[in-house]
Amino acid sequence: MTISGDAWRAFTTAFGGDPDGIWCAPGRVNLIGEHVDYAGGLCLPMAIPQVTAAAVRRRIDGRLRLHSTGFDPVEVETDARVGGWGAYVAGVVWALDPPGFRGADIAIVSEVPVGAGLSSSAALEASVALALADLCGLPVDDEGRDALARTCARAENDYAGAPTGGMDQQIALRGRAGHALLLDCADGHVEHIPVDTAAAGLTVLVIDTGTGHRLVDGRYGSRRTEVEEATRLLGRPLREVESVSALHDPTLERRARHVVTEIARVRTAADALRAGRVRDLGPLLDASHRSLRDDFEVSCAELDSAVDTATAAGAHGARMVGGGFGGSAIALCESNDVPGIEAAVTATAEAQGFPPPVFLHATPSPGACRC
Ligand code: ADP
Ligand code: MG
Repeated sequence: MTISGDAWRAFTTAFGGDPDGIWCAPGRVNLIGEHVDYAGGLCLPMAIPQVTAAAVRRRIDGRLRLHSTGFDPVEVETDARVGGWGAYVAGVVWALDPPGFRGADIAIVSEVPVGAGLSSSAALEASVALALADLCGLPVDDEGRDALARTCARAENDYAGAPTGGMDQQIALRGRAGHALLLDCADGHVEHIPVDTAAAGLTVLVIDTGTGHRLVDGRYGSRRTEVEEATRLLGRPLREVESVSALHDPTLERRARHVVTEIARVRTAADALRAGRVRDLGPLLDASHRSLRDDFEVSCAELDSAVDTATAAGAHGARMVGGGFGGSAIALCESNDVPGIEAAVTATAEAQGFPPPVFLHATPSPGACRC
């Protein structure tokens, strides 16, 4: 059964009758460029095959009824303030304020693991935003999707209270099959760069460490605040800075050094992909992980172990992805080596008493669509 079929069934079970349609949006992995989106930097995410599906039917009585498998149902007035998971949906309604919108029944089914650093939150927001845009006649061409992505980011920041930077929503709405998205977070400019991992005999292996993170718990936000403080002290955007030694504060210096070096790594990675040299990403992934671990201090024992083990078992490079403090890592592997690398990572996790990792293979996939 496809996920759109699952969503249709979930809808009829929850609400009776048929939805007006089903809309899907993918999770993502960021190849490189972590914790730089809110600093106006560059990042290079790609959409993954796992999606969130929203089955939606309009209502005319000003009510919002929400179902999601594994979560408590929510039923509120469209203008009420909602907490919990419903905030990610009600926040999109609030931020988008679609013309003529007077309520909806929405059933959610998802393949994107929640809190694994693969952006289930943006997949949820984007599936709902595209549905509402389609149903209310808002543009859904690339420009329209850019606007929808910004709206979803506003919903996540200002309504759900997660101070994330906007990359996740852009890739969920604008990703293309077979491409990574070079996103300039300062001006929203994008370039779709082909990444043919399969033809190169390569696999982007996602290692979900099973240690969930929560972006609303404050640690993500404190990094963002430190980066903003470093930017203020240096007097210009970190992407224009070459040396961070003028900061004097050793913590701010480390945080800023991560951002500056990470943006440089993204530029090098984009050049390598444009030239079809996918394997050259390996050392950049390793350097990114060291920077996130030592300078930005957002890794954890489970992520370090997964990264070190994957590299020792033959991956070209590996790094933690997403906000950090848990979640997932990626490893760039020869496809033939994947079974051995997965076995090694599982064995190490077991030996160290960590949760059993879950593996996904991240082929670059399309952005949100109507199914
Ligand atoms: P992630 O890295 O997965 O995006 P976040 O902490 O940003 O992690 O978002 C996870 C939160 O998003 C969940 O706690 C929940 O509130 C909401 N969410 C994500 N996917 C779903 C879903 N399928 N159904 C309901 N809520 C979801
Ligand atoms: Mg998220």
